[in-house]
Amino acid sequence: MIKLGLDPGHGGKDGGAGHYSLLEKIIVLNICLEIKTQLERDYEGIQVYLTRSTDVALELDERTDMMNKLNVDALVSVHCNAAGGDGGFETYRYTKASQNSIKLQAALHTAIMTELRPFGVIDRKQKVKNLHMVRESKMPAVLTENLFLDVKADADRLKRPEVIQAIIDGHVKGIASYFGLKRKETAKVATERDIHQVSGWAETAWAEMTKNGYYDGSRPGATQTREEAAVVMYRLRKNFLKLIANNAEDIADLDKKLAKIEAAE
Ligand SMILES: [Zn+2]
Repeated sequence: MIKLGLDPGHGGKDGGAGHYSLLEKIIVLNICLEIKTQLERDYEGIQVYLTRSTDVALELDERTDMMNKLNVDALVSVHCNAAGGDGGFETYRYTKASQNSIKLQAALHTAIMTELRPFGVIDRKQKVKNLHMVRESKMPAVLTENLFLDVKADADRLKRPEVIQAIIDGHVKGIASYFGLKRKETAKVATERDIHQVSGWAETAWAEMTKNGYYDGSRPGATQTREEAAVVMYRLRKNFLKLIANNAEDIADLDKKLAKIEAAE
């Protein structure tokens, strides 16, 4: 069983950065709780240990002592940034980092930026710094700085659930890639589409076709047989003929004329 240490920065009386009605300690706690849930739910053989799972204050050495004692295989400390001009995403390893720390940073940074790039997040690159969390931990350790709370564009991004999800997904994928984790079979099934849920792009057409009786409204995502398609076209053809008949000649005659056109096609 692989053991991962996950450290949501700050907590309790130490709120971390706070701007635009966002508070770092809350954001990073929610992100870390969800990373743990997803890793343990979707991947084989990983156990995640959090330095804190509630809003409590912890000293930095309490965090590294805890993880060193648990002897976790890697440690990821999660933060949000402040005071950074244009904003963006960056990661830190220790100035004298091990080869595995370098590998962990590369895996995390690449995976998280892949998720965040579509939202226009600036890549501030993989950095090196003499930080307590990456220096005092005995295992490979990386600290992620997830956008700048005091940069309006980044703060707006952090208020979007899909950006928070991208940060979570990036961490999960980066950690999975570093350890070479295998996805659980059940997780693969869970990611398949729900055929009872209509896709966003088809919503209007599906509602219209259902309301007007061409489809019964069930299983919008299911595949269709030739006979099912024939029933829908039959309904369309009949209504089409009725429409013209109401404005012109009798329906039997129109049917004959349409059949002639169809035969000639
Ligand atoms: Zn912080």
